[in-house]
Amino acid sequence: MPAQVYLDYQSSKPVDPRVVDAMRPWFTERFGNPSSLHQDGDEATDALERSRERIAQFIGANKDEIIFTSGATESNNLAIIGYVTRNRRKGDHIIIAESEHISIHNIAKALEKQGFKVSKAGVDQYGRVSVEKLRRKVIDTTILVSIGWASSEIGTIQPMHEIADVLHGRGIAFHSDAVAAEGLLPIDLRKMPIDLLTVSSNDIYGPKGIGALYIRKNINIAPIMPGGGQERGLRSGSENMPAIVGMAAAAQIMASEMPQEVSRLVQYRDRLIEGVLRRIPRSHLNGHPSERLPNNAHFRFEGIEGESLLLSLKDEGIAVSTGSACSSKTLEPSHTLISCGLLHEEAHGSLEFTFGRWSKSTDVDRVLEVLPGIVERLRGMSPLYQKEVKV
Ligand code: PMP
Repeated sequence: MPAQVYLDYQSSKPVDPRVVDAMRPWFTERFGNPSSLHQDGDEATDALERSRERIAQFIGANKDEIIFTSGATESNNLAIIGYVTRNRRKGDHIIIAESEHISIHNIAKALEKQGFKVSKAGVDQYGRVSVEKLRRKVIDTTILVSIGWASSEIGTIQPMHEIADVLHGRGIAFHSDAVAAEGLLPIDLRKMPIDLLTVSSNDIYGPKGIGALYIRKNINIAPIMPGGGQERGLRSGSENMPAIVGMAAAAQIMASEMPQEVSRLVQYRDRLIEGVLRRIPRSHLNGHPSERLPNNAHFRFEGIEGESLLLSLKDEGIAVSTGSACSSKTLEPSHTLISCGLLHEEAHGSLEFTFGRWSKSTDVDRVLEVLPGIVERLRGMSPLYQKEVKV
């Protein structure tokens, strides 16, 4: 049974029942392989290409610029490793933001082991990349810059146009992991000069295990996995047709419902932020006050651990997160919060709420009803907090 109040949409989203309906025939009646030359194969090829078209429309791209992958992690790997491998003769230096998702940091680490040089662009107290600092990191051998469109953790939106301006005309490829932004912010690649864009399906209420990589025309990348040569030779392996059809259906639904959905999420987000900061002393908002995702509220509570808060909320039937689900099993504080200048104990006192398609106004009421009491009780048990407040 899911929690009564589920406010962890960043970590996982249910698949929209309309998406499940679209997927269902592709498990049983329509099981053709797009590589087959018979009628079932043709049917699968048609569906594959229609799905590609829908994903392209969703982000303002052309159909032949979309490659299906197994999700955001693979798209990030294919974009970055694929690009630098193919373009090494142009240079060996890449730049990522300090606040990037763990998958990007670990790709950069792997590339360092292969002899590539990696620089990290610093972020301000809100997690925004400083465009000036980024400009200073760009050198003659820089071939790729990877900056996530928005942080799935603290919700801060990056100044994407300004970043693109810094790179413009310098022959540097711009990759962005747009997983946190898709479905919440308009993405139109006709207006945004990004060369490689990572999108995933579950973030728009499609199934997990499927994603896509946008590769702008004239950008060359190398495959990272040899095989049968599907997806223009860039991503081998039989196409996951039910998931591909599901992702396309999810994108189509999202495209038509996004404006209404976003304005509803913004109301919940703002009411939660205002209520928490007003009712709970010594609470702070992490991330940018205005340049933030419509569904994200991320707080820091002095004197308590986010994990104790999370467990107390769990007892009340409320599901939240202490940060990126991909890093939740480590005891290390969030590198994103540390990059914003927070101390380790401050980062540990943080809690993330993310709203989604099935969130209700009463979810906000419930959190505001129980959270102030939980914070007070936990602080009452913390000798450190008592001492600090008295001084
Ligand atoms: N990038 C970002 C910004 C994410 O939040 C996540 C996790 N949802 C990933 C990449 C990895 O996604 P996946 O687990 O679908 O590969």
